[in-house]
Amino acid sequence: MPNNNPMTSRTGSEMAERSTSGDLQLPTPIGMEAKLMKECRHPDLLPVTMQCRDCGAEFKFEPFRMAPRWRPEVCPECADKRIEADWAAQNEGIEAAHLARWEAICPPLYQETDPGLLNQAKLKEVLAWEYGPKGLLLVGQTATGKTRTAWMLLKKLIQSGLYVEAFDCMGFSHKCSRMFGDFVGAEWIERLVGVDVVYLDDLGKGKLTERVEAEMFGLIERRCAQKRPIIATLNMTGQTMQSKLTTDRGEPLVRRLREFCSQVVFKEPLDASRA
Ligand SMILES: [Zn+2]
Repeated sequence: MPNNNPMTSRTGSEMAERSTSGDLQLPTPIGMEAKLMKECRHPDLLPVTMQCRDCGAEFKFEPFRMAPRWRPEVCPECADKRIEADWAAQNEGIEAAHLARWEAICPPLYQETDPGLLNQAKLKEVLAWEYGPKGLLLVGQTATGKTRTAWMLLKKLIQSGLYVEAFDCMGFSHKCSRMFGDFVGAEWIERLVGVDVVYLDDLGKGKLTERVEAEMFGLIERRCAQKRPIIATLNMTGQTMQSKLTTDRGEPLVRRLREFCSQVVFKEPLDASRA
């Protein structure tokens, strides 16, 4: 089929004409033609000897055809080092931002935790949790270091770039009431369903209102369905927790959490004078 498109049916002589006018790129020379062109370069394109601004060493530089006047400041080795230093500086900024986020949500008392004073076996077990759909439940009585250990894990997660929302039981209750009072409760829960990690501290401590309990249950269910984890500390055994929650929801809430999370049980109390 003949090509009638005026844009693509040029003859060879027409192409050459356009080439000399500079509108079209010349074909890349090969063989002897390329060798000759290389040897007859414009003076701007001849290799030059440069002195590196960083290390002072001399290095050869072959100017680029596309930018014949451009010269590098540093030798290739120092250029690599500069790139690495830029990356390090950027990472430092990101790390500082992550640490600031942890400090913004972690209560000051727990920020001051000396990890060396925690139960090392439990700390290791908790820090070994890997981000995934199955959450983590830290169960035990008060003063066993559950919450302090949980905040160490949250710090690690935040530093790895994950977004964490954290609540203690009363904090969740108050925020829940406020959000629903302002008619933005549904949006708030929706947002919590979507964040990387939700941390609930001292779950079951203090009686929740029916409304708050229902919302918390809904949040756990929805996150479970979305395969996003919850990390929680349970400040009592399952039985005492169930008795504090309303009978129709408390039991399923605990059952769901146990299904949904791995468990680490804290038994030995921390030495209060040390931790
Ligand atoms: Zn150098």
